[in-house]
Amino acid sequence: MIPATFSAALLRGVRSRCPRCGEGSLFRKWLKPRERCPVCTMDLTPQRADDFPGYIAMIVTGHLMAPLIIALSVDYAMGPVGMLAIVVPLAIAMMIGMLQPAKGGVIATQWWFGMHGFVKERLPEVPAEDNRAG
Ligand SMILES: [Zn+2]
Repeated sequence: MIPATFSAALLRGVRSRCPRCGEGSLFRKWLKPRERCPVCTMDLTPQRADDFPGYIAMIVTGHLMAPLIIALSVDYAMGPVGMLAIVVPLAIAMMIGMLQPAKGGVIATQWWFGMHGFVKERLPEVPAEDNRAG
């Protein structure tokens, strides 16, 4: 079923599910999107995530690592070797772990806003009169 809100569609994408039906898997391999959703058969070839998931992963990782680096150097007076031994593997793991959810989110965003040849789909809006108790 088509999600009611952008955040619902985005959450489906972040969880590597088709943003339209929420059931079919979005990826054939780790970062290789399917050509069609296996459940609702939506065409996924218009997606153009390009480098954007990588930038999202770098920005989020950088913002999460900065306080850790500051805490390790100020509070624990850790030297550069110990710092690199902790920070570099952690940053690599975080970025690798974030790539697929970020790409799913980018594809879901492109689908929701009808970008790059995706068909913009919305549930029909409920008129205000129907919300009143009667
Ligand atoms: Zn689907």
